[in-house]
Amino acid sequence: MSATLIDGKAIAARVRAEVASEVEAFTAHTGRAPGLATVLVGDDPASAVYVGGKQRACLEVGMVPFDRRLPADSSFEDVAAELESLGADSAVSGILLQLPVPAHLDGPALTALISPDKDVDGLTPVNAGLLALGRPGLRPCTPSGVLELLAETGVELEGAEAVVVGRSNLFGKPMAQLLLAENATVTVCHSRTRDLREVCARADVLIAAVGRPRLIERDFIKPGAVVIDVGMNRLTPEQAGNKSGLVGDVDFAAAVEVASAITPVPGGVGPMTIAFLLRNTLQAARYQSELETMFAEVQKEMR
Ligand code: NAP
Repeated sequence: MSATLIDGKAIAARVRAEVASEVEAFTAHTGRAPGLATVLVGDDPASAVYVGGKQRACLEVGMVPFDRRLPADSSFEDVAAELESLGADSAVSGILLQLPVPAHLDGPALTALISPDKDVDGLTPVNAGLLALGRPGLRPCTPSGVLELLAETGVELEGAEAVVVGRSNLFGKPMAQLLLAENATVTVCHSRTRDLREVCARADVLIAAVGRPRLIERDFIKPGAVVIDVGMNRLTPEQAGNKSGLVGDVDFAAAVEVASAITPVPGGVGPMTIAFLLRNTLQAARYQSELETMFAEVQKEMR
């Protein structure tokens, strides 16, 4: 068997085009384009590349980017003040603190300071709590992107055995919650899972987000399973066997023989993250605009 390739690049391009046309309508209706602020602390080159990509993507869909850069030796209070000022700025619909922050700063504590209605990464305690409770809120971008890939591939999640390898707050936990909300039977694995191979081999849908090149081997995969590879591991192009030097957590060459559908790396999950960051920014802008309208109406009635 040779698995169908799930083309994340094409699906992300479709999502971005949809967002662009919705942004056009939103801007025409409200007179203001959604704004996305990125906050980068320090000069890590990889983080600077990610932030640059987000800024460009923002412009492409008609949003206004706000690029805030703080020196590597910024104090907690400096970053907190920046997040607070962006929270108070009505031109800013979404705020993203680029992680990781320098080691002397507490990333989760800073993330928690982002105004929940502008938390387009969906990582604040408020949005994580809303997701856990099954209530509407801003959802983390990469797990939302994975759900879209599964939907686009026509995967039936109701009653399916879904196994997520990795339990990070950024990906594994929210992914498990989203799958549960789709009525999948969900198992979450991590570094202490006793027999990873055996647990993975039960999965109808296997999602790997570990950060270990080719950890998931052929016999981890049930024949006909759908495999989503979130891992992004940088090797030399020679080691990786591709131009980009990127490989996932799944041994792609072996998995493609057993799975029914699979995401490649690169070109699978990666492009979905920015697409859903844009989607979340539009959602946040809509919510804030509704609040402003409600507030204006209440003020009018009280006059
Ligand atoms: P993370 O915070 O480092 O979490 C890794 C998880 O993998 C942890 O839960 C860890 O278990 C588990 N793990 C480590 N070794 C394991 C093993 N041998 N067997 C089973 N589980 C193991 O990483 P993350 O932020 O979730 O990211 C994971 C990967 O996804 C990385 O390669 C990252 O680059 C990629 N990623 C890609 C995107 C994208 O846009 N495509 C977005 C997010 C992440 P413990 O909890 O027990 O330590």
